[in-house]
Amino acid sequence: MTFNDLKVMPAILKALSKENYATPTPIQEKAIPAVLAGKDLLGCAQTGTGKTAAFAVPIIQLLSTHQGDAQGSAQGNPRGPRRIRSLILTPTRELALQISDNIRAYSQFTRMRNVAIVGGVSQQMQERSLQQGADIVIATPGRLLDLMNQKHVDLRHVEIVVLDEADRMLDMGFIHDVKKIISQAPTKRQTLLFSATMPPAIAQMAAQMLNNPVKVEITPASTTVERIEQSIYLIDKGNKQKQLNLLLQNKSIVSALVFTRTKHGADRVARDLNKANITAQAIHGNKSQNARQAALSNFKNGQTRVLVATDIAARGIDIEELSHVINFNLPNIPETYVHRIGRTGRAGLSGVAISFCEIEEIPYLKDIEKLIGKTIPEVKDHPYPMLVTTPPSKAEAAQAEAARREASRMSRSRASAVGSKPAQAKANPAPTPKSRPKPKSNWHSHGRGRALGR
Ligand code: AMP
Repeated sequence: MTFNDLKVMPAILKALSKENYATPTPIQEKAIPAVLAGKDLLGCAQTGTGKTAAFAVPIIQLLSTHQGDAQGSAQGNPRGPRRIRSLILTPTRELALQISDNIRAYSQFTRMRNVAIVGGVSQQMQERSLQQGADIVIATPGRLLDLMNQKHVDLRHVEIVVLDEADRMLDMGFIHDVKKIISQAPTKRQTLLFSATMPPAIAQMAAQMLNNPVKVEITPASTTVERIEQSIYLIDKGNKQKQLNLLLQNKSIVSALVFTRTKHGADRVARDLNKANITAQAIHGNKSQNARQAALSNFKNGQTRVLVATDIAARGIDIEELSHVINFNLPNIPETYVHRIGRTGRAGLSGVAISFCEIEEIPYLKDIEKLIGKTIPEVKDHPYPMLVTTPPSKAEAAQAEAARREASRMSRSRASAVGSKPAQAKANPAPTPKSRPKPKSNWHSHGRGRALGR
């Protein structure tokens, strides 16, 4: 199967070949003909499957081939002002910018113009771009609503609406805004909805918004990860950073995306990597859009070897040829694990996913293994095997956290008093391999070995 077989127009074929897209991915094979035929679409697929081109290619083609109605007035004056004819809504700024870049690439030999409307950056430029006219707008809901309320956006001529990562928009609380936005588009339109999962609220929205849709379901979670070499380190919390530094001494890891649970965690990991002379930057929601873009482009161009991210920040970012994903923390939602590791091994490349699992994350590991239908191989030969095999009680955890904060505060004030660099704070320092106490195990059921004293 080729893009030519899918009746993609020559101007787009030329662009795809320039992007080195030789053959369509499964979702492209199914979605492109359906969208070209004017059908609504319900796509159950996640990022990494090629879904952007699956909707973007037919949209560019439909809008280009109906240019008469497109450019300008209803009378079809091709020299009139451009009107927004396709609206693509996405949950995150990064995803919107990435889709915009992709559409620019796919439409480079057509007259289509697209604009990304996202929060976190100056509104003025976006107002100007809208005034200059755009055929396709890719937007996050908040900023788009602001601009709509200020009458900078007119959706009355929209022909095709795409809701991308609808489940994530639901998670992030955007669904009300999305419905408000869509109510401003004509009811007679084509609608495409993509979602990695189908919670009831999304299924209900799909039933309301889509008219007899073609359904395309691609790669259930467990098959996406088959190409990826996965491993797990059972390790104590206090040793994760040391193990990470150790892993990254290996120069064959050219670039790695490291996931942490919290924004502070991301900052801490990035800071400690830099201290160990491993170039790293953190990317999360507390950073400005510019800082996030800068971190991302430093990572893409190889200036930074490690990007440390939270799930929300990483969602949708497109990094070609990422070889390693490292889970500093395991996610509590098993699907998130699949999303995370799916960032490596894309477009047929093989990838490596390494996960650190502390005692409190064992239940998450079990859920993940249940979802992917296999046991993740354990790396047993490492200097920091798990010694703490009893999860702390809530009170103990709170006490340890308070001690950590206090130690950190003391070391900061000591450092500022002597004007030196702060010493690294250590709470519950993990024992060195030599002075290791005998582990006591209370976790027999999982069947993992040495570190748990079996
Ligand atoms: P997406 O799921 O749209 O984020 O796409 C995932 C990655 O695959 C992106 O880096 C795309 O540029 C790439 N890609 C999409 N379609 C193809 C294709 N047909 N051939 C090769 N690479 C592709």
